[in-house]
Amino acid sequence: ELANRMAERVADVVKALMQNGMMVTQNQSIDADTAELIIEEFGHRVQRVSDADVEQVIDMVQDDPGKLKPRPPVITVMGHVDHGKTSILDAIRNAKVVAGEAGGITQHIGAYQVTTDSGQLLTFLDTPGHAAFTSMRSRGAQVTDIVVLVVAADDAVMPQTVEAINHAKAAKVPMIVAINKCDKPSANPDKVRTDLLQHEIIVEKLSGDVLDVEVSALTGKGLDDLLENIALQAELLDIQANPDRSAVGAVIEAQLDVGRGPVATVLVQNGTLRQGDIFVVGEQWGKVRALINDQGERVKEAGPSVPVEVLGLNGTPEAGDVMNVVETEAQAREIAEYRHQAAKDKRAAAGAATTLEQLLAKAKADEDVVELPILVKADVQGSSEAIVQAMEKIGNDEVRVRVLHAGVGAITESDIGLAEASNAPVFGFNVRANASARNTANQKGVEIRYYSVIYDLVDDVKAAASGLLSNEI
Ligand code: GDP
Repeated sequence: ELANRMAERVADVVKALMQNGMMVTQNQSIDADTAELIIEEFGHRVQRVSDADVEQVIDMVQDDPGKLKPRPPVITVMGHVDHGKTSILDAIRNAKVVAGEAGGITQHIGAYQVTTDSGQLLTFLDTPGHAAFTSMRSRGAQVTDIVVLVVAADDAVMPQTVEAINHAKAAKVPMIVAINKCDKPSANPDKVRTDLLQHEIIVEKLSGDVLDVEVSALTGKGLDDLLENIALQAELLDIQANPDRSAVGAVIEAQLDVGRGPVATVLVQNGTLRQGDIFVVGEQWGKVRALINDQGERVKEAGPSVPVEVLGLNGTPEAGDVMNVVETEAQAREIAEYRHQAAKDKRAAAGAATTLEQLLAKAKADEDVVELPILVKADVQGSSEAIVQAMEKIGNDEVRVRVLHAGVGAITESDIGLAEASNAPVFGFNVRANASARNTANQKGVEIRYYSVIYDLVDDVKAAASGLLSNEI
């Protein structure tokens, strides 16, 4: 594809890559930095995708109100530790999820759906707690319509209860209070109700407008009542989506599965996700190979508020990443690449700032020599030694380069670990980082720089050491 876009011969591009030490076949993916190198080598101009391009490809149009249809509400359970969040989620699931036809094994995929006695479908997020809720929000995915605040009747409003209240308020999500453990002799539901007054939560029983239900996850008492109250609250909210458009969703959880590759549970927020759809999700992209519902069954499509496991990703996204279905694979790949690069640049800049700050702070603190820590990996011992010698000559009374580690071979994860711990950049001389090292470096904001000319490397480090510390290093 790169050859295609440059209007060059594939064989020539592969050859150029090999000359740069990358043994690739023509269908192999290469990272943006390498592509840029090759493009320049061929004398072409690099044009990376911009935010505006991304927005154009991703269908941002407002839905025609006439096409909106009601969708199930999405519920997150929050509250203080040990007040019974997990127990309530499990009790609801066990009581309400009719085991699927395919063997009747319910799967924990991060979310599940239940039907209330009055026939209303509800979607529960299976990861309780406000950490998940907040991290999803911080990544731009507001998936929750209703928060169930769990407070144990034998305890009271506790620090994390207050946090949960604040999170729900910040997200402007309505709350329903589940007063749990009401089976206990020591239970005092009214204390919970009055406690909540201090946090401006006035429950129905005290003539307020926040629904409150007494429940016991242990005996199951009150759980149906809780579900009906959720359904009631949902009706008031008038929750809608347009099932007849390309899908938009949010990643609830994702992992790399040994047998199945990267797997993500996606909650469809709008539109309908179908097998064969091409999508971009955060910095990853893919084509839906299979969709699996919360009962372990393969399904052909998933509409609004339906959680499904998605197979067919090219990498593992993060919880809270937004999924958008796009037209072509080229678009999906381009957007994913663009985001990946943008995120990398941002992390590198952030990492650099800390390093510089820390160096200066250290210098001021002990009025000592400032050390610029670096890691070096080279293709052969001779180069590695030459680089170390050159590095040791750099510096003056104030700044000194300190080679933390110099070795031969590809840049590995353990190099990245060391670099991260010391806030050092990693220099690769005629070697590259392997895939896992690249991923870790991206995650940790460790900068990797590649060189094939020793003088270039030395010049960059000199520039950094001589107080010209640009944001590059
Ligand atoms: P979480 O930390 O909020 O998820 O709380 P858990 O669901 O793990 O529950 C904490 C403890 O409280 C566990 O030992 C549960 O068995 C117990 N528990 C939860 N709900 C009830 C309940 O309704 N009644 C009683 N008696 N114990 C409960």
